[in-house]
Amino acid sequence: MQHLTTDVLIIGSGGAGLRAAIEARRQGAEVFLISKPNKTYTCCTTLSNGVFRASKDDKSIEKHFRDTLEAGRYLGNPVLVKILVSEAWPALMELEKFGIRLLIEDEKASIIADRQPSGIFLSRALAREVIDLGGKIIDRAIVFNLSMDGANCLGALALKSDTGEILHISAKATILATGGFAGLFFHNDNPPGNLGNGIALAFQSGAELQDLEFVQFQPMFIDPGLPKMPILDWLIEATKKIVPGGPLINKKGERFLSRYNLTSQKILRDSLIVAIEREISEEGSGGVVLFDLSNIAPEDVVRACLLEYQQKLVSPIAKILTSNYFRIASAAHYTMGGVKINERCETSVNGLYAAGEVTGGIHGANRLGGNSLTEILVFGKIAGRQASEFARKTSLKKINRKQAEASSMWIRSFLNKNKRAKIRPAELTRSIILIISKYLKPLRCEEGLLSALAELEKTEEKIPYICLENLGEIRKAIEPIFMSTLARLIITSALTRKESRGSHFRKDYPDRDDENWLKNIVIKQENGKLKILDKDSLSQDYIFSERRAIS
Ligand SMILES: Cc1cc2nc3c(=O)[nH]c(=O)nc-3n(C[C@H](O)[C@H](O)[C@H](O)COP(=O)(O)OP(=O)(O)OC[C@H]3O[C@@H](n4cnc5c(N)ncnc54)[C@H](O)[C@@H]3O)c2cc1C
Repeated sequence: MQHLTTDVLIIGSGGAGLRAAIEARRQGAEVFLISKPNKTYTCCTTLSNGVFRASKDDKSIEKHFRDTLEAGRYLGNPVLVKILVSEAWPALMELEKFGIRLLIEDEKASIIADRQPSGIFLSRALAREVIDLGGKIIDRAIVFNLSMDGANCLGALALKSDTGEILHISAKATILATGGFAGLFFHNDNPPGNLGNGIALAFQSGAELQDLEFVQFQPMFIDPGLPKMPILDWLIEATKKIVPGGPLINKKGERFLSRYNLTSQKILRDSLIVAIEREISEEGSGGVVLFDLSNIAPEDVVRACLLEYQQKLVSPIAKILTSNYFRIASAAHYTMGGVKINERCETSVNGLYAAGEVTGGIHGANRLGGNSLTEILVFGKIAGRQASEFARKTSLKKINRKQAEASSMWIRSFLNKNKRAKIRPAELTRSIILIISKYLKPLRCEEGLLSALAELEKTEEKIPYICLENLGEIRKAIEPIFMSTLARLIITSALTRKESRGSHFRKDYPDRDDENWLKNIVIKQENGKLKILDKDSLSQDYIFSERRAIS
């Protein structure tokens, strides 16, 4: 076991982690950044379309604030949303210092890049800055435990996935920046590795989590020949103007968007997905939804996209898009829920901070496009600053030797060949993905969610029998353990919310119920047990003032 010490430890090297590292170095803190993938750049930030939402003047900032709360169906925390919208513009302007050129149009900024995905330019620029400032990045290391002393976080234990060596990193402050958990679904557009490890780690340490029931799905092409790129929601919005009834058809050939009022109002992702899924499920197992622009000229499709960055994304595929019709499916894209933070990015565990998609609280029940890349810059910076301030006032604590030794034994136990049964970890990973994909799809119901819990329990019974050939496979063994912890939390949250709101649609409770459910579902581990605390949403005042204004 190797023992390292630092002021600030950052777990995850996506945009939030890198931006936090830059800020912590600027504040003079020593920084270690641990990254699970083989290449630092394997993360959602890199795969992203590079589109940010930001406003400059007061009136547009106020609009951005209201739009974000409204899209989140009033479950977003207005204190965090206020910070997001007011710090967005300076955060974007700073990107130019890192060498990124931006195209600014209609409350959006997109990275000017000669190839897609343009997020790679963001990741590279931020990583370059971290290295220039003297931050240290450790690749191929998966954090599998937070080092705890009672309610204080003292760093983390990580495992080098190439050598099997355990790293014990003692840190004065630790930042979780491990991204979301869309990778738990069979259809997803995330890179491998975004499985919500940070949320499971935070739960094990006793931190509060919130809004885990809200998973943002995107329509995605599933036929070969078209990229999975997450552009379909705004492409459907743009092309509904040139195709009467909109570009989507169901199995009977009906253009169904008007049945859901989606031709007459601006389409939000959650409403679109619910409409698509309802059409598919009404047809039973053979249900299908097709994207059909087959009688439209490619130039008209490009012209229908009003913003330049959208045209840039659509132009290369416009000919293919108009040559045929294509099947689409709901793919998990983004997860709104995660570790609960306050305006200083503090979690409820002392010394533990969080930023980026691993957190919950900003987007509520549905995220507005472009808000996530803005969020990772704004909150990454806050986390880096606050963690380094905390580190300045804190002395490095002795490592918890008992925990370190127990971890070491736990890791070695996967190599024990004398187990009664031998389970390959891939079998468990596959089972959990199947359970989540079957029962946690956009349309849910109590019966399905209870079946999910029962099937998960059966899968969990096999965990003690995981058996590896060598320590080089260790990451494969750790992932299903994290995944099952998180799966239970997501299912429990989805069961608890007995209404439909944003991305969470309950077939057995199809209506939104502000009377009873205008609140966040907050969960945590207490005395080894899962505790559910439902808390009133802080944005209640906004929804009620909106209603007063309407009536
Ligand atoms: C295809 C696609 C396009 C998108 N386009 C846009 C867009 O244009 N605009 C927008 O606003 N949003 C967009 N998003 C969403 C946005 O990209 C992400 O929400 C955001 O980049 C998340 O950043 P992050 O730093 O929180 O996490 P990530 O960038 O995902 O980074 C997290 C990192 O932590 C690592 N990690 C996880 N667990 C561990 C562990 N146990 N130990 C060590 N490391 C770990 C992961 O492997 C990963 O490298 C898009 C998302 C996708 C998938």
